[in-house]
Amino acid sequence: MNGTDASAFDVAVIGGGIIGVTAAFYLARRGKTVVLLERNGLAEGATGNSFAWINASSKAAEGDYHRLNARSLTEYNVLASEFGEHALGLTACGELSVAPVADQSRHAALRTQWQLLQDLEYPAAWVDGMALSNLEPCINFDRDYVGLLNFAELSLEAPRFVNFLAGQTTSLGAEILEGKPALSLEMGDGGEILGVKTSDALSPPATCFWPPVRTARKNYRT
Ligand SMILES: Cc1cc2nc3c(=O)[nH]c(=O)nc-3n(C[C@H](O)[C@H](O)[C@H](O)COP(=O)(O)OP(=O)(O)OC[C@H]3O[C@@H](n4cnc5c(N)ncnc54)[C@H](O)[C@@H]3O)c2cc1C
Repeated sequence: MNGTDASAFDVAVIGGGIIGVTAAFYLARRGKTVVLLERNGLAEGATGNSFAWINASSKAAEGDYHRLNARSLTEYNVLASEFGEHALGLTACGELSVAPVADQSRHAALRTQWQLLQDLEYPAAWVDGMALSNLEPCINFDRDYVGLLNFAELSLEAPRFVNFLAGQTTSLGAEILEGKPALSLEMGDGGEILGVKTSDALSPPATCFWPPVRTARKNYRT
């Protein structure tokens, strides 16, 4: 593997989107030796095409999933306090949903969501037309609208985040290999995963597998 000792890795991560790179970062930070295999380039999958609104308000009715998303908001803020928002591509923009007062069903739905968020002790505020105009002076709300402001929510420039975290990860000793697809998993007799077969996508041809990437414990988490 390009001079890398293939037996030296505790973990092989497959995929260099936001999930894979973040996992690789935290594993490397906890002292694991990590290799990440990405078949194309980092953040070129769903991550690079995401709206990247970091929120839990849209999952308010979803219990544990809401709590998981709220926890991720906290973790982004922890990272921001360490590295700074700019380096990570984070913007503390908040999120504003509005409804015309005259539209009873939209108004009621927004109100219900606010109630849910209050019950969950989520940082959100109900805003009247005057406050809306102050928040968004370039939009003419005519005081006929009300809004729900999720003031703690964030937006993310996801490719920037991924590339920054990848840099941190490699500085912790991990290997990040782009243009390196994982072709298959090597299974042991008991069905355990022993390694990942990969190849150089360009040369040699895909039929020439590299030696499998092996973990010291013969127990890959992928
Ligand atoms: C239009 C759109 C809007 C979205 N808006 C939001 C939003 O506002 N908020 C939000 O939280 N989420 C949003 N999402 C969802 C979010 O973008 C995804 O949940 C997230 O990017 C998934 O990250 P991932 O790392 O799992 O996947 P990906 O970014 O797709 O990464 C997977 C990577 O694995 C690589 N790969 C696949 N197979 C192999 C292999 N065999 N070997 C090596 N590499 C391989 C791929 O090349 C890819 O780079 C949106 C998604 C889209 C498409």
